[in-house]
Amino acid sequence: MTIQSFHPPRRTLMGPGPSDVYPRVTEALARPTIGHLDPEFVRMMDEIKQLLQFAFKTENPLTLPVSAPGSAGMETCFANLVEPGDKVIVCINGVFGGRMKENVERCGGEAIIVQGEWGRAVDPAAVEETLNAHSDAKIVAFVHAETSTGARSDAKALCALARQYNCLTIVDAVTSLGGSELEVDAWGIDAIYSGTQKCLSCVPGLSPVSFSAKAVEKIQNRQTKVQSWFLDLNLVMGYWGQGVKRAYHHTAPVNALYALHESLVILQEEGLENAWARHQQHHNALVAGLEAIGMSMVVPASERLAQLNLVSVPEGVDEAAVRAQLLADYNLEIGAGLGDFAGKVWRIGLMGCAATKTNVLFCLGALETVMN
Ligand code: PLP
Repeated sequence: MTIQSFHPPRRTLMGPGPSDVYPRVTEALARPTIGHLDPEFVRMMDEIKQLLQFAFKTENPLTLPVSAPGSAGMETCFANLVEPGDKVIVCINGVFGGRMKENVERCGGEAIIVQGEWGRAVDPAAVEETLNAHSDAKIVAFVHAETSTGARSDAKALCALARQYNCLTIVDAVTSLGGSELEVDAWGIDAIYSGTQKCLSCVPGLSPVSFSAKAVEKIQNRQTKVQSWFLDLNLVMGYWGQGVKRAYHHTAPVNALYALHESLVILQEEGLENAWARHQQHHNALVAGLEAIGMSMVVPASERLAQLNLVSVPEGVDEAAVRAQLLADYNLEIGAGLGDFAGKVWRIGLMGCAATKTNVLFCLGALETVMN
């Protein structure tokens, strides 16, 4: 049998990501591929760096998109900053904090866990207690926006605490970038990674990262080589670095970078603060609507993410059947629960260009119809 071209169905993506992609972004993807050392491409790379500095609110020169998904941004941070024997305080309040622990251990570090409750923010008092008990810790790592639970942690307070104890910070902002207040320089974040497929509404597969001067100093003064050749920032800096004559490191995902450039241009046109406010506004409407049809939210109001909403599955409802029917009848994707929350919750995303009044009303109407 001859295999035919693949034409995916048109869905509305209101799960935990990927989110719907801006049509302008998919159009940018289709532009002609040029060489990744072409002067025009290099000019565009400089613009991507400036746009990412804008999105992260940072002046860090080492700000770039890693050519791989969010997990590779995570690995870039840990592989470059953790040396064998280093103690790293890892806050776990969901699936992605667990992956941070795994990263520390694979780098030969010792993970000291601050175990938090699923569906709650990381508790700064518990982190401080752990910092006091481990004065030789070098890094504090936490997830700003836990996609598995819908909880937002206080990144500003956690970074201030880490600084007080002379620790660097590694922050997961995969789901927060572009959707929630995030200030890399003002909050003193040392290493941060994100993804393109959530609130940037770009295609999946790239991971914006940024490193402070203190983080760069640590990377440049390591006693041991970074174990991963591909993710070693000392080498990547030769391609993305400041004021360097760009040299071949790996073949950049040329068209995906056009897409990222376009999504960041759109974010700049809207304004960062306006994008954060839009996510909050539609979150408020979604929560009001869900509560009006008798559903309840899992995360306490002050710790909720606007862009990822955890809703309890009502008693006696087959959650997988509801999701399957939403997909079949409405082409609407919402997410299932992960880990401790599997089978108990739905995760409704309002990310990037999916955070609209139309989507909120569509989702509420579809959910109510399917459940009755
Ligand atoms: N961290 C968080 C908080 C995430 O939500 C995700 C993906 O959903 C990741 C890390 C991993 O990103 P990716 O799936 O792009 O590798």
